[in-house]
Amino acid sequence: MNKKTVFIDMDGVLVDFVSAFPKLEPEILEQYKDNKDDIPHIFGLMEPMPDAIESYNRIAEKYDTYILSTAPWENPSAWHDKLLWVKKHLGTVAFKRLILSHNKHLCKGEYLIDDRHDKNGADRFDGELIHFKSERFNDWKKVCEYLQV
Ligand SMILES: [Mg+2]
Repeated sequence: MNKKTVFIDMDGVLVDFVSAFPKLEPEILEQYKDNKDDIPHIFGLMEPMPDAIESYNRIAEKYDTYILSTAPWENPSAWHDKLLWVKKHLGTVAFKRLILSHNKHLCKGEYLIDDRHDKNGADRFDGELIHFKSERFNDWKKVCEYLQV
């Protein structure tokens, strides 16, 4: 039997975006207060969300699993840092399974786990959107239960 495919977003889902803030100089945070996405190397400073790594590993055992994230167009270091983050935290289980795209709807599969439902193609995804941080899926435990892993 073919495995079903699951795409998993990074920021706000696997990655705790705000965990980088205390590691940055206050002047940098002030300088980029309206576009923190564009702080050079910020994506290398972030920690995993609670239960994210364990949940990814469990999902990857049962499903054909990919990371599907968007990297800021104006921050080239983000593209580099997201690759390094995946290698550091997910290693071989996510080997060559990182997709960076502003057009998530072009990826074909059964599930997309994402905290945004309105941007970068998540709104046009053909499969089922598991809306992370919604009332129904407010943590990884709920998502794992739903995917039966
Ligand atoms: Mg996100």
